[in-house]
Amino acid sequence: MNLCVVGTLAYDTIETPFGRAEDALGGSATFIATSASYFTQPVGIVGVVGGDFSKDALAFLESRGVDTSGVEIQQDGRTFRWSGRYHHDLNMRDTLDTQLNVLATFDPKIPEQMRGAEFVCLGNIAPALQLKVLDQMTAPKFVVCDTMNFWIEGDFDTLREVLARVDCLIINDSEARLMTNDPNLIRSARTIMEMGPSILIIKKGEHGALLFSTDGIFSAPAYPLENIFDPTGAGDTFAGGFIGYLARAGEVSESNLRRAVIYGSAMASFCVEQFSLDALKELTAEQIRARIEAFRTLSHFEHEEVSIGDTAP
Ligand code: AMP
Repeated sequence: MNLCVVGTLAYDTIETPFGRAEDALGGSATFIATSASYFTQPVGIVGVVGGDFSKDALAFLESRGVDTSGVEIQQDGRTFRWSGRYHHDLNMRDTLDTQLNVLATFDPKIPEQMRGAEFVCLGNIAPALQLKVLDQMTAPKFVVCDTMNFWIEGDFDTLREVLARVDCLIINDSEARLMTNDPNLIRSARTIMEMGPSILIIKKGEHGALLFSTDGIFSAPAYPLENIFDPTGAGDTFAGGFIGYLARAGEVSESNLRRAVIYGSAMASFCVEQFSLDALKELTAEQIRARIEAFRTLSHFEHEEVSIGDTAP
């Protein structure tokens, strides 16, 4: 197994301008593992759920080639719950409620067969738990970390310890600004990279994503969609496609990183078309390939020399 994912398995209650879903399957690890499973299998998933977590959801993950033996089931506990409301501008959302439940006392134990994974994705979860996972990995080659405002505001000191130990951080633009207290994304990126990660991805919702590395900056567009139903999980689905692609490719080169950003963006574009994980349940390789091709044409142009500024007759 060359990819291990840790994060939340959750029930989400979501309100968007187009509808409402109660107790929909969600969680950072659920989205990441499902998305990554389109590129590499098996994917190891580590997390915790309560006795109320549906067996069908675990069966679904298994059907996607996800090894769920690292999901602890606390029979007398309640699964993590999150509730959010999206604005008319779907890039904006308010968290209405976060109930840690079983997560509050979770002590992750990585099953033996996952410890040697070279690719590790520390999905959005308490930074202290991300550290406990890292401590148990024996041969990490590329560690990606995600987080959110809840942890940036709630436990930044521990998050800094995580950042010092990861290769790549994935966050959105508002989180980058929050983390550095700087409105400028380019300066924020430099400040964050000084905290540890040599690679940084800043997601900008429907405006695409920026990849910062020692080679410079790469800008990926977002797929222009007419119908976005539910952005929940888009960031995690991006992370899953990104690390899934890299785990499949095996080598973390600049060109693979750039392609991985496009694969992540393509997977996220599917995720937002339906509620919860619905769109990620049965994608075909052909659909993914077609969307990658659409990304390629979206920002392709033929360069042609013209003499600029030479307007004299
Ligand atoms: P995203 O839209 O990519 O930011 O991810 C949304 C998912 O993250 C939802 O399915 C939630 O269950 C999960 N989530 C929300 N808040 C947290 C949190 N504080 N820690 C971990 N996971 C969370």
